[in-house]
Amino acid sequence: MVNHHIPSSLKEALKILDAHDCYIMAGGTDLMVVKHQRSGLLPNFDKDVCYISNLKELQYIYEDEKGVHIGAGTKYIDIQENNLVPDLLKQIIDELASPNIRNMATLAGNVANASPAGDSIVGLYLLDAKLELVNVHGSRIVPIEDFIFGVRKIHRHKNELIKEIFIPHHDDLNTYWRKVGSRAAESISKVTFAGGYELDDDKVTDLRMAFGSVSVTVVRDREIEKKYIGLTIDEIHEKADEIVEDMEKYITPITDQRSTKEYRLKVSKNILKDFLLSIE
Ligand SMILES: Cc1cc2nc3c(=O)[nH]c(=O)nc-3n(C[C@H](O)[C@H](O)[C@H](O)COP(=O)(O)OP(=O)(O)OC[C@H]3O[C@@H](n4cnc5c(N)ncnc54)[C@H](O)[C@@H]3O)c2cc1C
Repeated sequence: MVNHHIPSSLKEALKILDAHDCYIMAGGTDLMVVKHQRSGLLPNFDKDVCYISNLKELQYIYEDEKGVHIGAGTKYIDIQENNLVPDLLKQIIDELASPNIRNMATLAGNVANASPAGDSIVGLYLLDAKLELVNVHGSRIVPIEDFIFGVRKIHRHKNELIKEIFIPHHDDLNTYWRKVGSRAAESISKVTFAGGYELDDDKVTDLRMAFGSVSVTVVRDREIEKKYIGLTIDEIHEKADEIVEDMEKYITPITDQRSTKEYRLKVSKNILKDFLLSIE
């Protein structure tokens, strides 16, 4: 029999997760889609559910000298409205789903769902986000790229939940975001791209490129990025095609109901070039 657990504190939630194998439900906007059955039937949960959306302890945003901390239960709507949140993440959330979904759904849910088309994940990779995972025994911090390892595959122990997402400060990082979908709202991405750069006069001192929806996880390669750091803006523009060629080996999309792999590859390359030429 499937039980529903509604803890009233984080401590209680962790005890429940330690004692029972549960689905964690935050906003439920992914989980209910995965578990829904045809009209008139109850969702198809095959194990217990632990609801965390009422846990105030997980709903916070604050900053310290190192960066911004976003509690796992914070809804998109509250993230959108908070001045501490990096503009890139707000821009991504502005285009994510629709107001009704953003009123329910959480950033941590997007991360733990680990869909290649998860929009916020692309921004979080670009911003070097880290996750704090907690269980009854303590906590650990994991970079996002070490947490997600495949389509809907994450390194989470059964008794853990994501407590918060930490984004280091990047005060001088200029960012760029493109989402390609079938329409403006409620659109699952065909391709997403987040870019970032820092300048010292006309020298590029930081360069970042991350793609979503073109591989099993978000694609970012720090070695390729490093290769071009130190060049001038003009040199980056001159080498735009070379950089696109370097990144192309990671752009390995599939054909599915939303798009073809050929379209995704072409659009990805065009967007990357547009980003590189926009550096000024
Ligand atoms: C109509 C519609 C449109 C959408 N549009 C978009 C879109 O444009 N872009 C996009 O990226 N997504 C979109 N989504 C997907 C979804 O809204 C997001 O992925 C959202 O961020 C999920 O958050 P949630 O709180 O609802 O997660 P839930 O559904 O509650 O959970 C999702 C997964 O994360 C796990 N989980 C949740 N919280 C935690 C935690 N604290 N610790 C550990 N595991 C946890 C759950 O167990 C589950 O596996 C859309 C969904 C719908 C229904």
